[in-house]
Amino acid sequence: MSDAPSSDASSSTDRLVLMRGDLTTVAADALVNTANASLMGGGGVDGALHRAAGPRLRAECRKLRGCPMGEARITGAGLLPARYVIHAVGPMWRGGQHGERELLANCYRQVFALVEAHDLRSVAFPSIATGVYGFPIEEAAPIALRAMLSALERLASLERVTAVLFSDADLAVYRRTLDALRTPS
Ligand code: ADP
Repeated sequence: MSDAPSSDASSSTDRLVLMRGDLTTVAADALVNTANASLMGGGGVDGALHRAAGPRLRAECRKLRGCPMGEARITGAGLLPARYVIHAVGPMWRGGQHGERELLANCYRQVFALVEAHDLRSVAFPSIATGVYGFPIEEAAPIALRAMLSALERLASLERVTAVLFSDADLAVYRRTLDALRTPS
């Protein structure tokens, strides 16, 4: 068939999408939230997702009774264009000597463990911890992108991972980082 996908159509980089935008408007099986440990809402992505989802999301979060830093929990998505919200509690940046990188990597791993457990086909992420939590985006981008590429390699049923960046500057950092990861050293 002339329109058959080329042999590398499902490679991990083809299934990874980087875009600038507002996560609350992105359609995916799951949207990832930058939650705090209480899971009871905050600013940034958390506030925006809760506003768009409506009160049902907060009611579900309340039942979970919090989530430790570096871990993630799953709920329904209320009125959002998704089936689930995965709440990841990123580390607050305290200079980089307090296990921040490992905790951030663990957040991404936990999100993908939930994606696998629920057999999800698509997931969209904001840049976890690089807002109010102060994690430098140049440090966070390789951690995020390595986790995304490794999950895409491992999970054949995962059709799309979208990184939704809120500014052109953040998108440029992600693009540059992805190019560097793709270039064999
Ligand atoms: P954290 O508390 O984990 O640092 P924030 O929600 O404060 O998380 O910020 C994480 C990143 O998400 C920041 O780069 C911020 O600019 C961005 N952001 C804020 N609102 C949105 C949104 N609606 N969609 C996508 N990204 C957003």
